[in-house]
Amino acid sequence: MNYITKQRKYLRKEVKGYDYGGLIMKVVVNEETCTGCEICSEKLPEIFAIKKGIAVVLNPNPEASYKDALLEVIEECPSGSITLEE
Ligand code: SF4
Repeated sequence: MNYITKQRKYLRKEVKGYDYGGLIMKVVVNEETCTGCEICSEKLPEIFAIKKGIAVVLNPNPEASYKDALLEVIEECPSGSITLEE
């Protein structure tokens, strides 16, 4: 299992276990690995945009209602550049 797969499994487990009542999620994009493919900005334009060919996070602390959509985008990001931090 490579590092990205391990991290995704860890994030999925952690996020599913969260009590969103008090959680503050921080969405982070790794600018070094992002390829600018636009998957994230097309699926969640409220949270991501593309600037100068790289994804930027417009809303780093989205509401809990975005959890499932965020997990989907994290899975679909071809370079594994999106992470959630507490
Ligand atoms: S999906 Fe991943 S690689 Fe594509 S633009 Fe978003 S962060 Fe970058």
